[in-house]
Formats: sequence, structure tokens, C-alpha cells
Amino acid sequence: MPGVSNVLVIGAGLAGTATAIGLADAGVAVDLIDVKIEVGAIGSGITMQGNGLRELRRLGVWDAVLAAGYPFDSLGLRAPDPAGTLLAEIPDARTGGPDLPATVGLPRPVLARIMTERALAVGAKLRLGTAIGSLAQDAGGVDVVFADGSSGRYDLVVGADGIRSATRSMIGITDQPRPTGMGIFRAFGPRPASVTRTDLYYGGPAYIAGYCPTGADTLYAYVVEDARDRSAQTPAERLAAMRELAAAYHGPWDDIRVTLTDPAAVSYTLFESLVVPAPWNRGRVVLIGDAVHACPPTLAQGGAQALEDAAVLTELLLSRTSVDDELWSAFTDRRFERAKTVVEASCQLGQWQLDREQGDVPGLIATISALVSQPA
Ligand SMILES: Cc1cc2nc3c(=O)[nH]c(=O)nc-3n(C[C@H](O)[C@H](O)[C@H](O)COP(=O)(O)OP(=O)(O)OC[C@H]3O[C@@H](n4cnc5c(N)ncnc54)[C@H](O)[C@@H]3O)c2cc1C
Repeated sequence: MPGVSNVLVIGAGLAGTATAIGLADAGVAVDLIDVKIEVGAIGSGITMQGNGLRELRRLGVWDAVLAAGYPFDSLGLRAPDPAGTLLAEIPDARTGGPDLPATVGLPRPVLARIMTERALAVGAKLRLGTAIGSLAQDAGGVDVVFADGSSGRYDLVVGADGIRSATRSMIGITDQPRPTGMGIFRAFGPRPASVTRTDLYYGGPAYIAGYCPTGADTLYAYVVEDARDRSAQTPAERLAAMRELAAAYHGPWDDIRVTLTDPAAVSYTLFESLVVPAPWNRGRVVLIGDAVHACPPTLAQGGAQALEDAAVLTELLLSRTSVDDELWSAFTDRRFERAKTVVEASCQLGQWQLDREQGDVPGLIATISALVSQPA
């Protein structure tokens, strides 16, 4: 018998839905809650690397992911010149194994729908528009009072509520994300035929301009700049600012730029990073995903690391008969250094650009690819 028979998962992002699927599929009673009234209603695209795809396959959603997304196996590097010259086409590491593509691009709302539908199909109970008011634990369980006044007692509470985790503060962890100094415009739109993989343009007026196909008809495109407070900008002003920065990039960017007309399709986000020191639990409440380790998307590994946390936590909970220090030290051993290394490498890639320093980018990417190619 596993050491848990009922679990509350707070947050229905990648980490939370993956945990809910893994536990509910094994017969554990799972309540999955999210503060939003609709999960995945907004968002552009996501680049899911092979090691994340390996976890999605384990969760039984690979066919749906492949059908909805756009797989590719190489990365293009282009110059910020008038022709958008292709400088190199680099085969991408297949970090999930040779039988999975290196990368799949997906619209975020579609991935969110696939994950929540799978969680419901294997028996998790999903409550949207729900947050928790308080947590109190003793040796045998956690008493939870929800914001609507209802309550429950659980063997374990999993805080998967993202970079601004309220669960994190509720269990007394005061670490907060810090800005890395960069900001990103992202736009979701139609895929021109010229976009068949991610291409990155380094230099020009932005640090990076890039794009990722997310399906037969869609892509997301992005431009990374020095962090700025653009919160007072209207959507139309944000669109104009993105178009202005993107004007310096050519080749497939010329096809993309003409489609950048919808202010509602453009978002602006500051890059942040966070590594909460281990352990990530306080008694029977544990934090996973962005709640404890968040990285700028320079390696597109945040989602994959969140899925790996869920996989390891689920495996340990199902294979042990009690929730004890041994379980938590096994969780720390398998997750802390790996996630921390990915965060630090993601920050380093951006820092080299901020410092105008020629770092060993291919070497660092190869190191991380080798690391995440190993099973979590
Ligand atoms: C600009 C940008 C681009 C990125 N691109 C990529 C990429 O291409 N590939 C990649 O792998 N990663 C990418 N990432 C990182 C990736 O998005 C995250 O690492 C990943 O989404 C983390 O998943 P999570 O489940 O831990 O958190 P989230 O996805 O943030 O999910 C947390 C969930 O908790 C809910 N929640 C929040 N507070 C509460 C509360 N109090 N009560 C209940 N529910 C709550 C939220 O509504 C949300 O649904 C990117 C990140 C950024 C900032």
C-alpha cells in the first residue's frame, strides 16, 4: 500500500496535472484545485524538449501531444542581416530518447486541456476557481480550509502553484524569484510555410529574436530585450513595440511580421529565476515545479523540469509505505541538483548576453542536454 491514499494538489499547471495523473492513475484519491476559473484559457506557445516528452508519454498523453503539436529535430541560427542568413542548422539532442523527437512545439492552452482531460479521465477531481485559506498539519495528515469555507484532511498536500506560490509562503518559505534583467515579447499567430523549426537570431536591436512552430497552422514568435517596465503600455502599444524590434529580423521573420496585427496576441513578461534550497517539503506539504525552481526560458526546460518533479514525487509516493524523512531525502537527491543546474545554466546563457561576453554557449547546452537525457 502506498503511504498516501488521498492527496490535495494545488495548481493545475504542468507540475500539478502531471502529479494528479500519476497518483490518480494508481488509485490514489486526488483533489486538484486551481485558483483560475478556466485553466489554460490564455497563453501563447510552449517548446517541450525531449525529456519533457518522455514524461508526457509516461502519463499517457503522447498521442494527443503529437497530434496537436509540431515536432522537429534541429535548431537554426540566423544572422540579424537583411537576408536573415542561415548561419547553422544544428541537430537538437533527443533528450527523451531516440524514439521521441528532440522537441515539440504546442499551443499552451491545448497542452493544458490535454493534461486536465487526462487527469479527469484517470479519476482526479478538479475544482476550478478554488484556493486555500489555511493549512494545519500533524504527524498523520494535513487539515485544509479552502477559501470558500469548505475543508478536507489529506495525507499529503502538493503545492504546484507556480512561481508566486501562495503555498510556499504558507509553509514559511520566504525565498522569492529575482529578475534576471531581460524581458520578452511573445506573440501567438499563424505559421508561415517558411517556419518548420525554431530559429534563433542573436544580436541586432534585441538579444534574441526567435520562433517556434506549435502546430500545422500556428506558431509563437518572441523577441528578448533588456527588462523594462512596460506595464503601463496598452496592448496596441505593446504590439507596436514588438513590431519595431522585430523589424530588424528577416528571412522567415518577414513572413511572421506581416501577421503581427492583433494586439491581444502579444504579451510581455520579465525573466525571473528562483531556486529554493532543499528540502522542498515542510512535513506533509511539498512544493514542486516553478514554486521551487524557475528559470528564464533560454533553454526551454522549465516545463520539462516541472514534469520531472511530478514523475519522481509520484514514483516515490507510490513505491513507499510511508511519508517520512527517507522519502524526502530520496526526493531531494533526485531533484535538487538537477533542477538547480538547469536554472543556473538558463541564467548563465542570458547573463553572457547581458555582459556582452562570449561564453561557451554550445558547451553549456551540450552539458545540460547530457544531464537531462539521463532519466530523472
Ligand atoms: C516567458 C516564458 C517562456 C517559457 N517558455 C517555456 C518553454 O518554451 N518551454 C518550457 O518547458 N518552459 C517554458 N517556460 C517555463 C514554464 O512555463 C514553467 O516552468 C512551467 O509552466 C512551470 O509549471 P508549474 O506547473 O510549476 O507552474 P504554472 O505553469 O505556473 O502553474 C501553476 C498553476 O497554479 C495555479 N495557481 C497559482 N496560485 C494558486 C493558488 N493560490 N491556488 C490555486 N492555484 C494557484 C495557476 O493558476 C496555475 O494554473 C517559460 C516561462 C516563461 C516565463
